[in-house]
Amino acid sequence: MNPLLITADRLWDGTGNATRVRPVLQVVGDRIDSVETALLSPKTCSGEVVDFPGCTILPGMIDTHVHLVMSAQPTNEAIIDQVTRESDAERMARIAGNAEAALHAGLTTVRDCGGTKNHVQQVRDRIRRGELVGADIVACGSPITTTLGHCHWLGLVADTYDEVEAAASKMLAEDVDFLKVMATGGNMTATSDPMKAQYDARTLHRIAQMGRDASKHSAAHVLSRVALPAVVAANFRTIEHCDWRVEEFRYEFDPELAKKIIDQNQFVGLTMSGLARRAFLPEVNTLGIGPVKRLDARFACERQMIDAGIRYTIHSDAGVRLCPIERFVLGLRAAERELKLTPTEILRAVTATAAEAIELPDRGVLSAGKRADLIVVEGDPTRDLTCLEKIRAVMKAGVWYHFEKPS
Ligand SMILES: [Zn+2]
Repeated sequence: MNPLLITADRLWDGTGNATRVRPVLQVVGDRIDSVETALLSPKTCSGEVVDFPGCTILPGMIDTHVHLVMSAQPTNEAIIDQVTRESDAERMARIAGNAEAALHAGLTTVRDCGGTKNHVQQVRDRIRRGELVGADIVACGSPITTTLGHCHWLGLVADTYDEVEAAASKMLAEDVDFLKVMATGGNMTATSDPMKAQYDARTLHRIAQMGRDASKHSAAHVLSRVALPAVVAANFRTIEHCDWRVEEFRYEFDPELAKKIIDQNQFVGLTMSGLARRAFLPEVNTLGIGPVKRLDARFACERQMIDAGIRYTIHSDAGVRLCPIERFVLGLRAAERELKLTPTEILRAVTATAAEAIELPDRGVLSAGKRADLIVVEGDPTRDLTCLEKIRAVMKAGVWYHFEKPS
């Protein structure tokens, strides 16, 4: 196995704020062997050298919440109609197409937070076997939800404690990587109520515990404060959306609950999907003032979470309306603007922190021994996030998938 040496103007390793200048990153097989600063010209080293002048090397990005089976059409009705009407073959083709688009957009790993049947696992396995090209997928199969509850149309309905236990067992038997539950209703499903809890504390605790017993993590979708104490008590690894909403336009942050989240090392997933991209998507403002007006209160509350020290990832919820997977970076730019985060804070949320949140210790950081998942972009993304839209190369597990020859 010949070593491959990758050089560029700078490297950001997934941690901290600083970049390393004149880096030499050595890849052997599917692993990073070393990351050093060039004292000599890399041309004098043995092994193949690829130099990217004017560029930055950074870890492959990780989107911790996507829906590969969904098509990001402009309305919820159109998305639900498509998912429920299509054949299994059509769904699998969309999942595979989105996974490939994700990889070319610089996402080397995506966590799928809900699809149909075991389709996402099937595509995940085909990518792992090298039969398809795409981002590495972490899959929950279908999310557990109630009759007519949020995303019930994905097909995994369970109302009672016993039914929920059976649903979680079914997902584990279908080889999922984590368990996902809809702890409240959601905006996408008109028959569900985002302001109401879908399960009691005992049932939620059982799901998270079944995950832990199977050495898998778990995720809970939370769109209002009402479900949060039980989700924290159950110690779900990630709290998706983590909305502290108590009324239409009112959010109520609770420092005591926040402290528990921090002490248990839970992670929240901040959702920068369609509406949250209002600054860049003029069509959002035509959707009615309600949901857009609510965003100001939501962002203020998310800033309180961040200031309190809660650890967070930033995800796209790709597949939902106006949110195609290849536009991941637009969500990051929205986070910079709306949550007043710095570019490196945002980059950490989608690399090192994301890997830790979803329990993938082999990636998210560029250091010796980690998997060689990396991207090369033009310019310096630690100063300007739009550089992430100028991808020159994507490597996953030591293999180039997107490669534009240095000129
Ligand atoms: Zn989602």
